[in-house]
Amino acid sequence: MSSFNGDSMDDFKGLRITQLDDDEDEETAMEPVNIDEFDDDDDDDDDEDYEPVTLGFVESPRFPWSNLRQLFPNLAGGVPAWLDPVNLPSGKSILCDLCEEPMQFVLQLYAPIMDKESTFHRSLFLFMCPSMLCLLRDQHEQWKRSPEKALRSMKVFRCQLPRVNPFYSSEAPKHDGTDKPLGNGAPLCTWCGTWKGDKLCSGCKSARYCSPIHQALHWRMGHKSECQQLRAVIETSDSDPVNNRVALTQKQKVASKSLWKEFVVIHEDESEYDTEMSGDDEIAKSLVSKREVNDQMQSLMNDYEGDADKKIWVDFQQRVAKAPEQVLRYSRSSGAKPLWPMASGRASKSEIPNCKSCGGSLCFEFQVMPQLLFFFGGKNDRESLDWATIVVYTCANSCDSSLSYKEEFVWVQLYSQTT
Ligand SMILES: [Zn+2]
Ligand SMILES: [Zn+2]
Ligand SMILES: [Zn+2]
Ligand SMILES: [Zn+2]
Repeated sequence: MSSFNGDSMDDFKGLRITQLDDDEDEETAMEPVNIDEFDDDDDDDDDEDYEPVTLGFVESPRFPWSNLRQLFPNLAGGVPAWLDPVNLPSGKSILCDLCEEPMQFVLQLYAPIMDKESTFHRSLFLFMCPSMLCLLRDQHEQWKRSPEKALRSMKVFRCQLPRVNPFYSSEAPKHDGTDKPLGNGAPLCTWCGTWKGDKLCSGCKSARYCSPIHQALHWRMGHKSECQQLRAVIETSDSDPVNNRVALTQKQKVASKSLWKEFVVIHEDESEYDTEMSGDDEIAKSLVSKREVNDQMQSLMNDYEGDADKKIWVDFQQRVAKAPEQVLRYSRSSGAKPLWPMASGRASKSEIPNCKSCGGSLCFEFQVMPQLLFFFGGKNDRESLDWATIVVYTCANSCDSSLSYKEEFVWVQLYSQTT
């Protein structure tokens, strides 16, 4: 199975990113991961027993409806398709804790867990402040442990729903443009289209905002004149001025021009990219070339003997070179661990906290590669956003709580630790 956004998929199962773990039995997959495995500061030689990894790649949405929440999409950039469309994150949790501006949507993954009713639908949402200055400050915060409050510029939320829920049919979507959710979601911010818009413009009583910052931005960027026009229209008509509900078959228009370009994320099994798999005739050839490559790498590594950072960098390059356009690496199997580009700035066991909701352990679930910034159209100057990798750890039990969006733990490794 190579794509879950394909039109041939006719049941929920086809959408499940986790099914690539299907060589794991369910019990093993649900066992809390021994986090000791992340803490391998010694030169690890287990490079060959890789856990199966699913790679994510971005492409433009194929249909206007490809990004709608009732299709349980995997998205990067643009605006999120909230799984629970009503009980969105709110208050301070939507803000970059450092500059206190609302964070920007990075990506979301649909990653259900089959053996629990409450995780029939399950999505993870990653947000970050687009300011590199905030990310540099965030670096010093990710080590902080409660009761000390870490001020983060990047946050990840987990949302899950049982098959029978108030928002979606229990039947799988048809993927033909006719799928509809069971009802409207909460009205969203007119400016960012991301967060709940519970503050109404007092002029037109039509535009809605998540924060005074976005209201001020929209006012300056054109709502000032638009607001008067809207007011005039409302005064001369009997229509309900607050009737700006989100249409069920399309996403709301967003006023901000600074969101990242929108993509859908498709996935492939990393093993598909192993050159040995490319057919009988190719085997001999690829083995030779692989040996040559390995020899070259070996001599490179000998040059760097004793330099753990260089070895890790070479391993990283070698592994990523199989599919250089990957923006994401996903693996929830027990024993899975991130592929670190560098030795310094890795998260070790003691740096990964327990689940904020249940107190249980967290396990590695996915990492975001810097290639995503290339597709987002990142600039190449000193102030622009950059990272080596972003690693997301989630509750090993994917616990339930009354909160619809539970904050999980995200670790950022930057190329330079010099600030
Ligand atoms: Zn910030
Ligand atoms: Zn907003
Ligand atoms: Zn207005
Ligand atoms: Zn938990």
